[in-house]
Amino acid sequence: MTPQQLSPQGPSRSRLAVLLALALAGAAQAAPTAPQPDLARHQPQVDQIVAAISAQRIEGYIRKLVSFQTRHTMSDTTSDTTGIGAARRWIKSELERCGGGRLQVAFDSHVAPVSARISRPTEIVNVVATLPGKQAASKDRMYVVSGHYDTRVNDVMDATTFQPGANDDASGTAAVMEMACVMARHDFDATLVFMTVAAEEQGLLGAAHVAEQAKQNNWHIAGMFTNDIIGSSRGDDGRIDDTQVRLFAEGIPAAKEMSEANRALVKTGGENDSISRQLARHVKEQGERYVPGFKVSVIQRADRYLRGGDHMPFLERGYAALRFTEPAEDFDHQHQVVRKDGNKQIGDLPEFVDYNYTAKVARVNAAALATLALGPAAPKDVKMLTTKLENDSTMRWAPNPEPDVAGYRIVWRDTTAAQWQGSQWVGNVTEASVKLSKDNVFFGVQAVDTDGNVSVATYPTPGR
Ligand SMILES: [Zn+2]
Repeated sequence: MTPQQLSPQGPSRSRLAVLLALALAGAAQAAPTAPQPDLARHQPQVDQIVAAISAQRIEGYIRKLVSFQTRHTMSDTTSDTTGIGAARRWIKSELERCGGGRLQVAFDSHVAPVSARISRPTEIVNVVATLPGKQAASKDRMYVVSGHYDTRVNDVMDATTFQPGANDDASGTAAVMEMACVMARHDFDATLVFMTVAAEEQGLLGAAHVAEQAKQNNWHIAGMFTNDIIGSSRGDDGRIDDTQVRLFAEGIPAAKEMSEANRALVKTGGENDSISRQLARHVKEQGERYVPGFKVSVIQRADRYLRGGDHMPFLERGYAALRFTEPAEDFDHQHQVVRKDGNKQIGDLPEFVDYNYTAKVARVNAAALATLALGPAAPKDVKMLTTKLENDSTMRWAPNPEPDVAGYRIVWRDTTAAQWQGSQWVGNVTEASVKLSKDNVFFGVQAVDTDGNVSVATYPTPGR
């Protein structure tokens, strides 16, 4: 479904849209006739950001990261040329240089005690670059994008062997650095946090430290993406596919205790409407809109079998979090000591990275982050009113706090569909009815600002 078909400007071609008629309620609260912003228009900042992302600079970052020989979490921290200490000092200085004073760059450090993959107490240092939001009502809302700059080989405790980690995960680190440098030149309503983290390979320790601080301090992280292994378009069968990226999105978490929010989803069949799936819908829609010809393949699971990533600690703490990974991985070029196996070169070397491909993934990330941070928050307290049996669907929500919110739109899809299929602008109201049965479709409510930026959708849970 293209954004044009989704646009409320003209009738959607979806079967459901034909059936749609809209009745507005709650007219006393606001102006239901509020003019509908132009949703088809590209935001110029987003086009500029996407155009500015450079495969050449990404290649430079990746090759520089490889030059540190090892970025293992327990490698040397004193040398200026090798080891993880030199690597993080270089990342920090690059971000400070390119940010031109607009990025707040800091180390986030803690000491990890001895554990299964940590043989001595080790300082784990993340490099965090923050671009503060400009709108008072939105600056506490944060979007976090990460890559991990640490490396490993076959023996996860081997800190000294050459471990280039060009794809895993200099590619994600370089994408985050490039996004930070390009996006720092623009203003956003919400706050963007660009982080490169350590100790992913030792058990997601760097990302977990940030996620735990977020939870303890009630940081409003409205979305988190990790970019891990986004460097190669070539699968282990030699086939090249540079036309898509996988985006892993969790449904209902496999927690022992189900939260009230998730219980409300399950009760109404909303297993595919978790906050991470809603975020993934936004990323797919906006990513494909601003990076034409490149597909965001949403995979409806948290991660691949036997693998995990830095989105996990955020998911575990109740945040919406997603993982970007290339379409077909080649395990000969991950976690391997650099060596020859007959004629075959094994190891995660820069010669196996497709820099143009990595740049495309960075552009999708940047388009998604920019549209999220320019736009309003997802509406809160969204309820599907269930006071009586009726075939219409009436939703009510709390008004958004942003001063530039123009109004709201209701989106819907068949219960078996993955992406939104129809939409209707309802104006600047906090209650609206749609002549479609809530029994037969899934709904979402989105806030829209005066520039036409659309929020992530919120699923209406039953209420009165
Ligand atoms: Zn990785």
